[in-house]
Amino acid sequence: MVKKENYNVSEILKLATSFLEKNGIQNPRLDSELLLGAVLNFSRIEIYTDFFRPLSPREIQAYRELISIRAKGKPVAYILEKKPFRHLVLKVNQDVLIPRPETELVVDKVLEVAKKRKETEIKMVDLGTGSGAIALSIAYEMPDAFVFALDISDKALRVAQENAEFYSLQDRVKFIRCDFLDGLDDCFMNEIDVIVSNPPYIPSKEIDKLQKEIRDFEPLLALDGGPDGLREYRRIIAESPSYLKEGGYLILEIGGDQADSVERLLNDSGKYDEVDVSKDYAGIERVVVARRRYIQLPAASYQSPGENMSREKEG
Ligand code: GLN
Repeated sequence: MVKKENYNVSEILKLATSFLEKNGIQNPRLDSELLLGAVLNFSRIEIYTDFFRPLSPREIQAYRELISIRAKGKPVAYILEKKPFRHLVLKVNQDVLIPRPETELVVDKVLEVAKKRKETEIKMVDLGTGSGAIALSIAYEMPDAFVFALDISDKALRVAQENAEFYSLQDRVKFIRCDFLDGLDDCFMNEIDVIVSNPPYIPSKEIDKLQKEIRDFEPLLALDGGPDGLREYRRIIAESPSYLKEGGYLILEIGGDQADSVERLLNDSGKYDEVDVSKDYAGIERVVVARRRYIQLPAASYQSPGENMSREKEG
């Protein structure tokens, strides 16, 4: 990438950007800045305020190595071993999926439904927690929440645990090695206010067509949703009602085009109502919320027909 040995910030960024671009990297300038920031211990703003700062040969060498790794497709988050998500900067490695911006919306939905719960301590379960992005954000943003973060991968749980300790959230986030809800202790039954998950949802035959950053570097376990991409939704939708309190919520991230199918699975199960789909910032249907149906109407909802009519008049 680099021939001569004395470059300043501006010059080296230009070279790195065009090198990444030639290698088919999607946001070459942004990635060049993020990686240079890591070498110089600079924020992106500092890169611009110190635009003409010369680089030492050692810095150039370190930067050259990072840029060549990026050129081969490794995502910046795995190179830097960190990724910002909502209020947190999470440690990530190739044992966990890199948290996506659209998953931040899942957390918004959790906060929204949690407000509807009357309990003082809200109990949640995050299925397939990965880096812990969802579970830890909930615990960080909701001081009343207690989160059980489940994952089948010991390696992923190690990353999530480290993130919990970094943010001192380990008292309110408990990690359990578990294949979604399969094998979860019976003591959780009818105890959970909110179950949330960003399960693997890519149809198996589409994995090969994913961009190389994802296909060659992210854990298949966190991506492959079976032949039609819906395998894990079927399980979660079938298993969750036994663990949710009546009136509790199931919140699922979904892939593009999956809203209708997931809605149908929820409705066909007969165990949920108030099914609602939200779009992400790109206008793609991304989050499904469903309420665990009351088996018996809650006491507050019992109304005589007369009461009902007088309310309507007032309204
Ligand atoms: N959002 C990821 C992607 O677009 C997929 C994550 C998942 O399967 N849950 O590749």
